[in-house]
Amino acid sequence: KGRGAPRGVAWYDPDRDSSQKARLSMMSELRGGLKNGEVKFAYQPKLDLESGKITAVEALIRWISPSRGFVPPDDFIPMAERTGDIRHVTDWALRQAIMQAADWRARGLNLAVAVNLSTNDLMNQNLPAQILALLREHDLPAEFLKLEVTESAVMHDMARALDVLNMLSAMGLALSIDDYGTGYSSLSYIKKLPVGEIKIDKSFVLNLAKSDEDNILVRSTIELGHNLGLSVTAEGVEDEDSIGRLREYGCDVVQGYHIARPLPPAELEEFLKESEYG
Ligand code: C2E
Ligand code: CA
Ligand code: CA
Ligand code: CA
Repeated sequence: KGRGAPRGVAWYDPDRDSSQKARLSMMSELRGGLKNGEVKFAYQPKLDLESGKITAVEALIRWISPSRGFVPPDDFIPMAERTGDIRHVTDWALRQAIMQAADWRARGLNLAVAVNLSTNDLMNQNLPAQILALLREHDLPAEFLKLEVTESAVMHDMARALDVLNMLSAMGLALSIDDYGTGYSSLSYIKKLPVGEIKIDKSFVLNLAKSDEDNILVRSTIELGHNLGLSVTAEGVEDEDSIGRLREYGCDVVQGYHIARPLPPAELEEFLKESEYG
């Protein structure tokens, strides 16, 4: 890209070099953090509007690094996807979520845990066998693990993704399309996928109380989803007014700060005990 450089040959760029170094050192700290307990999950309740109960939670990764402090997932997950370190994140996430769900179940708390997967995971033909082994190891029925995948992860290589998703679905895992509405695709391709749920992206849900346009989009997405036999979740529900509208539109499940923030396991258990939703 440098002036006068032969085509295809990049000049040495010290900025790029140092940012590359910074990325690599962050990723090696992350790998360490996954082993030494710096990385944990926070669990955000998913409220079923029909029953009024919380029957599932979404596991969201939390990294508190001794040198960097709290590092938001959006600051390291995309990077880990580029470097391939996401494999370590997913290995950790699946084990952690399955252990937690099994522990809750052993204590009489039946909560399904939803784990976020990335593009690379859907390209990994060994993922289903890996998950099966973990479920067996922890004696957890498949219905207690749910997986969330984005449209763009599926579209990256639909044929390969379908292979993996079909295996996971055959194992009895519930699959969701996450961030629905942010991609280019329409609901028509979702018919081809073994998914039971779409999650309407929070960008459409956050302004329900204010934006007529978002109300139309959300309402029609719920209708289309139902016509395809899918359950519809809305994420990013921040006020009571939005819950009322979503209920009116027939939305099945809601998730957002108004119900609860993502919580550490002990706080989640406390919340479920005290809340009418528990
Ligand atoms: P996501 O899967 O779309 O997760 C929803 C995000 O919205 C979470 O951000 C959650 O904390 C936030 N959120 C929940 N309720 C509300 C609300 O009412 N208002 C607003 N404004 N935000 C809300 P978070 O935890 O920062 O995670 C960001 C993204 O990082 C996730 O987006 C997901 O794509 C990724 N991620 C998180 N944990 C994992 C993981 O274990 N593995 C992978 N591969 N990705 C993960
Ligand atoms: Ca998600
Ligand atoms: Ca989402
Ligand atoms: Ca997202």
